[in-house]
Amino acid sequence: MKKRTSILLIYTGGTIGMMQDARSGELKPFNFKALTKQIPELSKFDIDLSSISFEVPLDSSNMHPRVWIKLATIIKDNYLNYDGFVILHGSDTMSYTSSALSFMLENLDKPVILTGSQLPIGIIRTDGKENLITAIEIASAQIKNKPIVSEVCIYFEYKLYRGNRTFKYNSAHFDAFKSPNYPELAEAGVDIQYNTNALLKPSKKKLLVHLNLENDIAVLKLFPGISKKITHSILNTIGIKAVIIETFGAGNATTEEWFITALKDAIAKGIIVYNVTQCAEGKVIQGKYETSSALKRVGVISGLDITFESAIAKLMYVLGKNLSVLQTTKLLQSNLRGEISI
Ligand code: ASP
Repeated sequence: MKKRTSILLIYTGGTIGMMQDARSGELKPFNFKALTKQIPELSKFDIDLSSISFEVPLDSSNMHPRVWIKLATIIKDNYLNYDGFVILHGSDTMSYTSSALSFMLENLDKPVILTGSQLPIGIIRTDGKENLITAIEIASAQIKNKPIVSEVCIYFEYKLYRGNRTFKYNSAHFDAFKSPNYPELAEAGVDIQYNTNALLKPSKKKLLVHLNLENDIAVLKLFPGISKKITHSILNTIGIKAVIIETFGAGNATTEEWFITALKDAIAKGIIVYNVTQCAEGKVIQGKYETSSALKRVGVISGLDITFESAIAKLMYVLGKNLSVLQTTKLLQSNLRGEISI
């Protein structure tokens, strides 16, 4: 007889489990029991559903790499006992967490689905019920006893996305996430339609969990008129290991000599300079325009079509390995978990 599918639900917090404070009117995280009470449908699933709840649920704006380590460890410790994992998480930083977990969990052959909601579960019009129920359904979906999905995803408002391709683009609509550079992995209607060709193949290797993350990273968002003083101050920050330069269009920047020299000096000191475009769609092509050729020449690393959220997570993961600049550059330029198109 086929064993029942088992899913571990991990509750970290987020709007889905929030309630309005009677006095201040603020939305604050509430405990997990109160949340599950609002969804009697959970008991109707023909699966074994277990749960772990953070003692103190988080608004995800308080997310931190130490929480990603905690989440990756929970998955590691429970990996063999479950067929899939669903993480309830605030939407504000869900793309960062899903990106980070995608790098930390190498060789996945089971689904890790993050979901949450824009309205608390206790509100009649909540989007939380559908999101949670379908996320569980996707996490438990199998063909020939093998999970259909075997990567870190976000399920939100009828769509399943590769987590490290997403960003939160809307704080007002239920449809809160976008994945402009990679197709949706599934769409839920009457049936759940999987985009099989877009899914990562399950790994045949043993799960490897990486728990070293390095967060001495700076971000230099370019704008016309960015000052030399501020640029120098950021690039000379004590302990800085990498800087993301958020560039224009296809990875372009000012060609002013002081700017290029500042980057060149930083790179000479061993700082990783990573070029990520400010555009939501499209990619960095260093050398396409004259305004990006100098970046390529001084050794700036192209982020191609990586999202900003994924670039942060990938840097934390790669820098956490303490490799040489050459090896670090090689990993940043490689497609590790489907986060870039090459
Ligand atoms: N501030 C909330 C959070 O990210 C928003 C949400 O859950 O949608 O935890």
